[in-house]
Amino acid sequence: MPKALGIPIVQAPPAWPHRALDVDALRASGWRPSPFRDVVLKVHQRCNLACEYCYVYTKPDQSWRGRPTVMERETWRAAAARMAEHAAAHDLTSMRLILHGGEPLLAGVARLGALIDDFRAAFDGACRLDIQMQTNGVLLDETMLSALHVRGVRIGVSLDGTAADNDRHRRRPDGRGSHADVDRALRLLIGGRYQDAFAGLLCTVDPEIDPIECYEALLAYRPPTVDLLLPHANWADPPPRPSGAGPTPYADWLIAIFDRWYAAPRREVGIRLFDDLLALILGGSGRSEQLGLSPVAVVVVESDGAIELVDSLKSAYPGACETGLTIFADPLDAALNHPGVVARQIGTEALGETCRSCPVHRVCGAGHYAHRYRPGGGFRNPTVYCADMLKLIGHAERRVDSDIRRLRAGRGS
Ligand code: SF4
Repeated sequence: MPKALGIPIVQAPPAWPHRALDVDALRASGWRPSPFRDVVLKVHQRCNLACEYCYVYTKPDQSWRGRPTVMERETWRAAAARMAEHAAAHDLTSMRLILHGGEPLLAGVARLGALIDDFRAAFDGACRLDIQMQTNGVLLDETMLSALHVRGVRIGVSLDGTAADNDRHRRRPDGRGSHADVDRALRLLIGGRYQDAFAGLLCTVDPEIDPIECYEALLAYRPPTVDLLLPHANWADPPPRPSGAGPTPYADWLIAIFDRWYAAPRREVGIRLFDDLLALILGGSGRSEQLGLSPVAVVVVESDGAIELVDSLKSAYPGACETGLTIFADPLDAALNHPGVVARQIGTEALGETCRSCPVHRVCGAGHYAHRYRPGGGFRNPTVYCADMLKLIGHAERRVDSDIRRLRAGRGS
């Protein structure tokens, strides 16, 4: 029988693969969870785009259909109180609220303003509250930007590269592309008075497009950070592989950008995936969900007040995010005991045997948790991008190793 921290891992019921961990036994062994730092708030359940890779609407979990379209005030006030309670219980110096959807801007300027003001009030005298929003940008106009900016909200925008790149997947329900509207919003965001509200760009990897053209299109908006995200996939629903491509199209695409970014004479932008890759290779820790073994301390509050696991798990199977908890009845601490949270916080112990014996497992960490899912086998598997991860990590290690050797040779040591 496999063990975690010397604790037996119980058999996973098919519908609840996270329950493969015996949390009571882990606690009895002395392990303690890391408190949540980030809360993702689903302020609106619908979207004005119909991106073809979206994990909310196109994947097995369709729970959005049964939830309130927009979050009501009593729900966000309860969420704010639970967050402040969690911060106090764990003596946190800061927490982060991420306004999310669907498309959060569909909630409208008045509702978002009231929501943010209520969170600020709930945290008054408590710890610092950073507020961020992840949006598709289409509705980001001057009125909305002004209301968010004055309330100290930082804004991340999803964009997949050039107009042609972006509009391959990020389209409206009637098939029209979204790039023109996102470009207008980004110009407003970076044009002067709102610039400090720009948190960065989020781009989903598409190995069918030119990586350098995509990267340069993102750079044109001078983002403070870029997130390059692998499309959500798993062993039952593998990622698209372009016809004629080799066995590692995602690694090949990322390596093209890595090489350009790494060799640039000055740092062009922070790319979280690559920054984490280098930090992990050099023995440090990362912050990306796509790499490494650092504890993940994120929880989601849905528009009906349900406390859930990270929503990327919606790509695995129906109900994969459920905890059975709600902010009206339960503190956030209750979710710290959920096996799906615990599995993200116990590092190597949550990995399957293949990953534990893999030479790069401390860097890779078996990849994104959602990408490890295999029906009947839960999440104790390598990521479905395993071959790509091996190639990307090996490539980055060789670049770093070569530079360290060159520097040592230059110092004569
Ligand atoms: S490269 Fe593959 S085997 Fe190695 S840790 Fe990552 S997912 Fe596991």
